[in-house]
Amino acid sequence: MINFLDLKAINKQYRAELIEACTRVIDSGWYIGGNELEQFELGFADYCGTKFAIGVANGLDALILTLRAWMELGKLQEGDEVIVPSNTYIASILAITANNLIPVLVEPDLDSFNLDPNKIEAVITDRTKVILPVHLYGQLADMPAINDIAKRHNLLVLEDSAQAHGANIDGKKAGSWGDASGFSFYPGKNLGALGDAGAITTDDVELANTLRALRNYGSHEKYKNIYQGVNSRLDEIQAAMLSVKLKHIDTEIDYRRAVAAKYLEGIKNQEITLPSYKDNSHVWHVFVIRSPQRDALQQYLADNGVQTLIHYPIPPHKQQAYAEWNELSYPISEKVHSEVLSLPIGPTLNFDDVKKVIELCNSFKY
Ligand SMILES: *Cc1c(COP(=O)(O)O)cnc(C)c1O
Repeated sequence: MINFLDLKAINKQYRAELIEACTRVIDSGWYIGGNELEQFELGFADYCGTKFAIGVANGLDALILTLRAWMELGKLQEGDEVIVPSNTYIASILAITANNLIPVLVEPDLDSFNLDPNKIEAVITDRTKVILPVHLYGQLADMPAINDIAKRHNLLVLEDSAQAHGANIDGKKAGSWGDASGFSFYPGKNLGALGDAGAITTDDVELANTLRALRNYGSHEKYKNIYQGVNSRLDEIQAAMLSVKLKHIDTEIDYRRAVAAKYLEGIKNQEITLPSYKDNSHVWHVFVIRSPQRDALQQYLADNGVQTLIHYPIPPHKQQAYAEWNELSYPISEKVHSEVLSLPIGPTLNFDDVKKVIELCNSFKY
């Protein structure tokens, strides 16, 4: 069986380093809000090219708390509109509605799967306050174009970088394009903890300070609460694990790019559309192909020992959680959701297995 992603093999590579880091935390007697968090925040901000990184409990909280912080700072009010891609993972949208803000869904570009900047201006109203681009599947959205629109209309930009650690255009990385950016370190993400974790990156000191309070009961100073905050902290063990993993992320990205290059070069089947990308803008969190015969292709690969996944089978506007949108039509998203298939990719997938996946893709007939 060729696994979609072998997390056990990935973390095994760093076993000794992870155990050493874990032991350091156990022996320190300090488990929340200490040196490990501080070191990881500094390291991750440096990696992304931002002034600050603020660790939180997960990627969803990173997005929720950033919007919440902007509300506390008077930059947003309940009922304001946030532009978000219609084909994103549901978390981007949950973060908006959790704050009583209004998601305005905009269709993606079919080639890049990312927010189509040409469709943004048509939906901007007096209530529009934020654009929330998602670097879906590991590829940066068209940030130069999106930032340009945001600037012209005086909008905030919150990147959802949960899938795109390290993705860049001319070295400018995911997390450094917007006013703020949310990251997830869920174990399966390209930078994965050994549990839940997330972070926000920003250059804005006021936002960073507000987030540091919000994640900790709304408090900077113990027992003095300035906001009705939450408990959303990145603990010392996970911070220590992440500092180990951060050292290796660029090597892992290079490996993912090598796997993607093999797929892009080797897969030739008229039933299959390969993903498009530009230079270093893609870190291949997932390698997503499209096929009108997606279900048959997935079955064929499974029958031949290849595990694939679908990111994602149901578009947000068809989810029961958003029943009020179920009758709306987003044809590009619907096409994406019915055709996409994610092939195995990861920093430990061996090239014989890549070759086998390519051969199976090429021998698939409908
Ligand atoms: C994973 C993910 C999130 C949420 O991250 P969690 O750490 O699981 O809360 C948000 N947005 C996108 C695009 C994601 O892929």
